[in-house]
Amino acid sequence: MRYALVTGGSRGIGKAVSKKLSEDGMYVVINYCSNKEEAEKTLEEIKVAGGKGELLQFDVSKPEDIETVLEKFSENHPENHIEVLVNNAGIRKDNLQVFMGDDEWNDVISTNLNSFFYITRRLLKDMLVNKFGRIINMVSLSGLKGMPGQTNYSASKAGVIGATKALAQEIASKKVTVNAVAPGFIKTDMTAELNEKELKRIIPMRRFGKAEEVADLVSFLASEKSSYITGEVISINGGIY
Ligand code: NAP
Repeated sequence: MRYALVTGGSRGIGKAVSKKLSEDGMYVVINYCSNKEEAEKTLEEIKVAGGKGELLQFDVSKPEDIETVLEKFSENHPENHIEVLVNNAGIRKDNLQVFMGDDEWNDVISTNLNSFFYITRRLLKDMLVNKFGRIINMVSLSGLKGMPGQTNYSASKAGVIGATKALAQEIASKKVTVNAVAPGFIKTDMTAELNEKELKRIIPMRRFGKAEEVADLVSFLASEKSSYITGEVISINGGIY
């Protein structure tokens, strides 16, 4: 069984990705931060469907936690390593830049951008040695076009997009691919307080996307079928340009 780690794999898009990768036959390591109940529910759903996996609690914004937890994970699984990494955990703390506090900036950058660096660096060596790997980064339309009220979030996602393109070129010859998925508006807790009725008007498909639709794209990128795609940002947004 291939091992996949989905950060923020307990709720929303990450949950749908965890379930889909399990359906694809992978052992899914579901990371979460604080909501243990939802994480346990996701793992239970996977097990009921006949899949295998485990929970791995750590705060992706804390480099020391990442190192300690992933080191312990390797010790517990000496025969296996993570071949598919989905850097999905993310937060938003919207504010106009003129009013934005240091914490609002730093929390979003460390959760959405720095986590990509620390987690990927930690897991990359095994992928390179074994000459196979899939790294999929969850970015956003915000990181492509910039959204007012989201200078922190847009910067974090644009940062991951740049890193995706650079890292893809560094490791392409080792058959490790790095791609980004850029959703538009997807129905999850993160978008729960948005005015869907109003926002639907700017989406050509006139609806928010489903987490499962994003998961299907991640599933393809995680598979052998995507072997000649790297350094790409694939939008999934109902036609917003
Ligand atoms: P969500 O419903 O709010 O779920 C967030 C997930 O990330 C939860 O599993 C949460 O775990 C985890 N998480 C948050 N902070 C964490 C941390 N510091 N360490 C570890 N895990 C953490 O979000 P979503 O809508 O599914 O978004 C998933 C990703 O897609 C994010 O990167 C987001 O920026 C991106 N995205 C979403 C949309 C959208 O419309 N929904 C659009 C574009 C991009 P806990 O429950 O334990 O906190």
